[in-house]
Amino acid sequence: MLQVAIIGAGFSGLACAGQLRRHGHRAVLFDKGRGPGGRASSRREGDESLDLGAQYFSVRDAAFAAEVDRWEAAGVATPWPTSCHRVDASGDWQEEGDDQRRYCGTPRMSAITRHLAAPHELFAATRVTRLIDRLDGWWLEDPQGDSYGPFDSVVVTAPAAQAEPLLRPHDEALAKACREIRMLPCWSAWVRFDTALTLEGIDADWSVVRFDQGPLRLAVRQNRKPGREHQSETLSLLARDEWSQRHLEDDAEDVASRLTAALQKALATRLPTGSSLPQITASGAHRWRYATADLTLAAPDHRLGEDGLALAGDGLRGGRIEDAWLSGVNVAEALHRTATEA
Ligand SMILES: Cc1cc2nc3c(=O)[nH]c(=O)nc-3n(C[C@H](O)[C@H](O)[C@H](O)COP(=O)(O)OP(=O)(O)OC[C@H]3O[C@@H](n4cnc5c(N)ncnc54)[C@H](O)[C@@H]3O)c2cc1C
Repeated sequence: MLQVAIIGAGFSGLACAGQLRRHGHRAVLFDKGRGPGGRASSRREGDESLDLGAQYFSVRDAAFAAEVDRWEAAGVATPWPTSCHRVDASGDWQEEGDDQRRYCGTPRMSAITRHLAAPHELFAATRVTRLIDRLDGWWLEDPQGDSYGPFDSVVVTAPAAQAEPLLRPHDEALAKACREIRMLPCWSAWVRFDTALTLEGIDADWSVVRFDQGPLRLAVRQNRKPGREHQSETLSLLARDEWSQRHLEDDAEDVASRLTAALQKALATRLPTGSSLPQITASGAHRWRYATADLTLAAPDHRLGEDGLALAGDGLRGGRIEDAWLSGVNVAEALHRTATEA
C-alpha cells in the first residue's frame, strides 16, 4: 500500500485521492484553504451562497460523464444552466443552445468537492511550504515548522506557479513543466439586488449571459441555480482575462463597482425604459491570481518525477474542471502502476 500526500484538495487532488483509495492506497490531502474546493469554492452568508470561481462545468469525456452521473445520483450536481444568452460585439442578443452537457453543484459548487473529500484525511488550512526528502520518505512542512510524513509519494496539484517553488529544490524537470504553464488571472465580482433583475424581451428565468466585448465576459444569476431559488437576486460577474490582468492589483471594492457599471452598460438596451439596475444591497470581488491555463497542452496530463514526486492539475490538460478531474485520476493510475510494477 502506498502512502501518498496530495497537495491541493481541488478537483484534481480529490480525484487523485479517490482513485488511489479505490486501489487500496492511503491518500492524505493538504490544502491551504479553509476547506476543499480550490477554484470551485463557494462563499456562504447565512442562508445564501455564491460560487466564487467556476460557475458550472461541461462534460465531454465518457469516464468523467460516468463520475458526474454518480454526483447527480448523490444529489450534489444538477444539469444547469437552462437558459443562456450571448451579447455579440454589436450589442445583439441571441439565445444560445447546444447539446453539450453542463452541470453545477447543488446547492453550491463546493457541495461536490465536500462530497468527494468526505472519505479522506484532509488537513485544511495547512499551507505546505517545503518538501523534505528524508531517509524514511517524503515529509511536508507548514509555516509553523510542523511536519507531516513519511510518504512514499507526493502529488502536487496546486496551480503551476504555486507548485513550482515546492518542486524546484528536488526535481528540475517537474519545476520546468510548471514554468511552461501560463496561468491567467480572473476577477470574479458579485452584486446583490433588492429586487429581481428583469430584462425586456428575455425570459424571466434567464440564467447566464456571455458578453463578446467590454470588461465583462460572463454574468451568472446565482439565484437561478438549483437549490438556490429562495435566494435574493445575486449575480456573479466574471471579468475578461485582459481586463483582469490590467486591474490585477486594484482594490476589490473598486473592481466590484467597475464591473457593476459594466453590467449596467451591457444590459442597457434590455432594462425597462428609463430604469437602471435595481438597488444594490451588497457587492464584492474575489481575485483569482491563477484562474485558468491559457493553452491546452499535449498529453500527458500529469508528470511523474524523481523519487515519488508527481505533478497534476487542470493546467496540464486544458483548464477546466473535467481536465482537473481527469488529470487527478490519471496521475493516481500512473502511481499505482509504478507501485505494482516495482
Ligand atoms: C473564475 C473562474 C471561472 C472558471 N470557470 C470554469 C468553467 O466555467 N468551467 C470549468 O470547467 N472550469 C472553470 N474554471 C476552472 C476550474 O475551476 C478549474 O479547472 C478547477 O477547479 C481546477 O482544479 P484543480 O484541482 O486542478 O486546482 P485548484 O482548484 O486550484 O486546487 C488546487 C488547490 O491547491 C491548494 N494549494 C495551493 N498551494 C498550496 C500549498 N502550498 N499548500 C497547500 N495547498 C495549496 C489551493 O488552495 C487549491 O485548493 C474556472 C476557474 C475560475 C477561477
